[in-house]
Formats: sequence, structure tokens, C-alpha cells
Amino acid sequence: MGNQAEASVWWSSANHPTFTPGELHRDWDVLIIGGGFSGMWTAHHLLNSAPDLKIAILEAQQVGSGASGRNGGWASALYPVDDEMLLQHVTSQSIKNLHTELEKSIDEIGQFAKNSEDSIAFTKSGSLTVARSEAQFTRIKQGLLPRESVLNQNQTLGRIRMSKAIGSSFNPDCATINPTQLVVALAKSLAKRGVHIFENTFADVSTQGNISVKGKNIESKYVVRAIEAYHEKNREQIPIYSLMIATEPLPEEFWTKYGLKERETFHENRHLVTYAQRTSDNRLAMGGRGAPYKWGSARSNKSEQHAKIHKKLRETAIEWFPDLRNYEFTHAWGGAVAIKRDWAPYLNWDGHFGSFGGYVGDGVTLSYLAANSMADLILDKKTIRATLPYVGWKSAKWEPEPLRWLGVNLGIKLSAIADIEERITKRPSFVGKLIEKLF
Ligand SMILES: Cc1cc2nc3c(=O)[nH]c(=O)nc-3n(C[C@H](O)[C@H](O)[C@H](O)COP(=O)(O)OP(=O)(O)OC[C@H]3O[C@@H](n4cnc5c(N)ncnc54)[C@H](O)[C@@H]3O)c2cc1C
Repeated sequence: MGNQAEASVWWSSANHPTFTPGELHRDWDVLIIGGGFSGMWTAHHLLNSAPDLKIAILEAQQVGSGASGRNGGWASALYPVDDEMLLQHVTSQSIKNLHTELEKSIDEIGQFAKNSEDSIAFTKSGSLTVARSEAQFTRIKQGLLPRESVLNQNQTLGRIRMSKAIGSSFNPDCATINPTQLVVALAKSLAKRGVHIFENTFADVSTQGNISVKGKNIESKYVVRAIEAYHEKNREQIPIYSLMIATEPLPEEFWTKYGLKERETFHENRHLVTYAQRTSDNRLAMGGRGAPYKWGSARSNKSEQHAKIHKKLRETAIEWFPDLRNYEFTHAWGGAVAIKRDWAPYLNWDGHFGSFGGYVGDGVTLSYLAANSMADLILDKKTIRATLPYVGWKSAKWEPEPLRWLGVNLGIKLSAIADIEERITKRPSFVGKLIEKLF
């Protein structure tokens, strides 16, 4: 199986070295499975407090070949479930702590990017949720987050001249990043600090929690499993594919016409998720959901190259910025996000074995923070981070098939229908409200 992340617009922008890690079959202090943001930030945070730890990272392909190296590049402070739902399980103080820590984490990632010897595109200039209909604008105003502000049409057009834009909301807590540059620079910095990174090394985890590679056991005092959407197929979580496209670098005259001078991340407030950014080399990179869920939670490279969804994304991009029809779309790729039944991220830790993830599409900043929590728990540090809502979170299982297949694909179809309904009725969609209740 080839590295699917190579199809992304980001992959060739980072210089990926060959790691020379030494002997694998020895005793480790910490063994980390998964060379994405979650696994590697865990090593980073651990070394900040305990620089002498012997840490190994086992990565089945190359570091960053999972979602970390091919995402939309939004480092946001978003959390997949809302405060109202969290409040049924944790205290309001814990929710407040979560938001504060997420906001802080964006700046800490920015600091890492700034101090790195490698070039890492990182611009913190917030995020825009654009309304292209009254119905979308009403929903924006109804769902405003505490740190978000509403922009009227003139204010919106001052930032982004998306066709039919009538208003937007602005969220200051988001940075635009190049994810592959970040993940590769992180790996390089860890290797320099003495972490042993084993690529093309698939780790087997037995039901008793023993780790082996090609049938040979590996001993470690602590084990962290950070494999997000790559878990075995069961009812714990489902993989949902998010697909992306990117254009060739667009000339200055294009951006003078359409805005995004500050490089805010942005999306249209549809029910079917979209997300986009102006990249550091002036392309438009844009993603969205809509690819069908596969029976039995199967993952498939085919789902990452879903021609119909990629075509829809290109059409949406041209709808937003009509001049794009004169330019080439050079990249099309995708990847899976992991979703628990209640859409809540989790972190499990039993004193020896830890696992975490379930970030939906908000894992760039969240993985940094969750890794920080994981490091604190391993080192037995009594911090606020070790008590955030996702620590010890338990979700119900997904329904067995065929209910899961029917329900999830119905949800995807209904999201598209809700957008059509809003276009026709010009009112917030009834179907949209129904989806919220159901999912
Ligand atoms: C197309 C797309 C767009 C997205 N856009 C955004 C965005 O704009 N903003 C945002 O916040 N989030 C976004 N996300 C989500 C975000 O990218 C992820 O939540 C985050 O990168 C997860 O990091 P991770 O390290 O937990 O997982 P991954 O990056 O997937 O890393 C897991 C690694 O584990 C390895 N692995 C799996 N099994 C084994 C094994 N048995 N042995 C060894 N290695 C193994 C895999 O090869 C993989 O490299 C997006 C995701 C996708 C797919």
C-alpha cells in the first residue's frame, strides 16, 4: 500500500528525511504507536519534562502519512461537541478549562513553528463562517460561540469577497498551517532530541495489551496508542472520509479581487461540512464531507479518491469564486476522521497503557492538547490538563450493521438535503434541526 498522503498538496512542500533509529527490540520507557500529531506531540511534551526518557515511535508508513500530513490546515480551538452536551457530564469549570487550554495550544504550536529550524507555514488570523443566504446567517447568529463576532455584509466583503456573501461570523482562535511541514519538522526535532522513530513498522497489539512487531515482543514501561482512524473495525468508532482539493498557485490579481489578505481560514455555513484556506503559496485548498460511509466501518483508499465528491468540491469552489474556472485544480486527496457515537473525543489511561483520539475534524490543535494531557498522566503530574473533559470519557457503541450503515449514510444525505431545502425555502432547514436531534 502506497503512502496516500503523497497525493495531498502539502506533501512535496516538506523535506522528509530518512530516520535511522537503531535497535527496535529492547526495553523502552515509552513506546508510542502512531507517527501523527497525537503520538509525536506526546513524545515532545514528555521530553519537555523528562528529557532522559527512552522513547520509541512505531509508524506503519511514514510520519504524517495519516490525517496529520494531509488535513485542511486549520489549527482551531473548536471542540466536536458543544458545551451544552459536555455540561451533562462534567463541570462548567472543566469546560472553561478546556476552551482556555485549546486557545493556548494554538499559540504554543505557533511558537514551535517559529522556533523550528524548518520552515513551517503558520499564520494566526482567525476564521470566517460565511453566510450566502438569510437562512445560513440566521443559524450563524443563533449558534455564535462566546469569542465569535458577527460581521455584516460590508465587513464580510472587506475580508472575503465570496459570491452571494451576506454576512459572516469571525472567530479569532484559528491559525492557517501547512500540516505536513509541521508534522515532519516535529519528527525531525524529536529525532534530534533522541527519540527513536521507526517508520514502515506496523505494531500489533494483543488483547492483553502486548506489543509486537513481526511476531517479536517489545517491552516498554508505558505504551501509548495514537492511531486515530486506524483502529480495528468494531463498534467503538467509525471512519468518515473528508476529501480535499487544491488549485495551482493563484496570481496576486485573483487574491486582490477576492480578499483573504490575512489568510483567515473560512467555510460556508452549509450543513454539509466545508473548510478552506489560502495557502502560504497562494493556492486555494478546500475540503468537505459527503463521501459515503462504508459497510462495517471499512477503510478504503478508494473512498479517498471519490471522483464525484472531488467534482462537487471543485464546483463549490467555483461557485464561491467564479474566476477559479480559469485556473487549474492540481490536487485531489482525502483521509478518514474518527467519530465516536456521541462525537466526543476520548483519552484512556490505566497507568501502563494509554489511547486517545476521536477528534472528528478538529484534531490539529486538539491532538497537541490531548498529547499534553497524556504526557501529564504518564508522568503522574496533577495538572488541569490531566482532568479535561475527554480524560476517561466513555461513549456508547455505534449500532450494529445494517443500522449503522443506514443511519450514517442517511445523515450524510440529509445534510445535503438540508442545504437544498434552505436554498429553496430561504429559512433555517427543518431537516437540519432533525439531523441535530438524531445525531
Ligand atoms: C482530509 C482531512 C482534513 C482535516 N482537516 C482538519 C483541519 O483542518 N483541522 C483540524 O483540526 N483537523 C482536521 N482533520 C483531522 C486531523 O487531521 C486529525 O484529527 C489529526 O491529524 C489526528 O492525528 P493523529 O496523530 O491522532 O492521527 P494520524 O495523523 O492519523 O496518525 C496515526 C498514525 O498511526 C499510524 N498507524 C496506524 N496503525 C498503526 C500500527 N498498528 N502500527 C504503527 N503505526 C500505525 C498511521 O499510519 C498514522 O500515521 C482533518 C482530517 C482529514 C482526514
